[in-house]
Amino acid sequence: MNYAMIKNWDIANGPGVRVSLFVSGCTHRCKGCFNEVAWDFNYGEPFTQQTVEQILAMLSTPQIKGLTLLGGEPFEVQNQPALVDLLRQVKKAYPEKSIWAFSGYLLDRDILGRKLGPWEITEEFLSYLDVLVDGPFVEEKKDLTLRFRGSSNQRLIDVPATLAAGKIVLWNDWQGNGRQMK
Ligand code: SF4
Repeated sequence: MNYAMIKNWDIANGPGVRVSLFVSGCTHRCKGCFNEVAWDFNYGEPFTQQTVEQILAMLSTPQIKGLTLLGGEPFEVQNQPALVDLLRQVKKAYPEKSIWAFSGYLLDRDILGRKLGPWEITEEFLSYLDVLVDGPFVEEKKDLTLRFRGSSNQRLIDVPATLAAGKIVLWNDWQGNGRQMK
């Protein structure tokens, strides 16, 4: 896997101050994509154990609330193994820090529908996630007032609650219409 960028002290992609990893490679090709350069799986730098250690060091800061994976597409078959290895190490070192991921795939139809490669890897990937923001960016549904998502079709999903319930459970750490956090 290659990655495009690591953002430290990111406040745009999940609650609190976070570390965000932008992976390379995405086959969705959404019209109006914010990050077209990362469609190419060869874009950026190779993701190595040294990169993992860099992320672990960034996460050691007490003010950092967690890690966010975005792209590109974290759930592409080619990207899942390296991300699962990263999350395994992050969870071991910092079990209290939250893990968010963004995906253009739909959790119920595509990911739980087992359409994205070896299920064992996808299942382990999901086991580490607190929240998944799913669905492609749809330019006609773009809404700049939404936090943590670009278009209104995208869902903020509580992954552990969804897996336990066997149906989509939205993340409800919100006030009112979902535009502000507690
Ligand atoms: S899923 Fe994200 S990175 Fe991929 S094309 Fe759509 S907006 Fe761009």
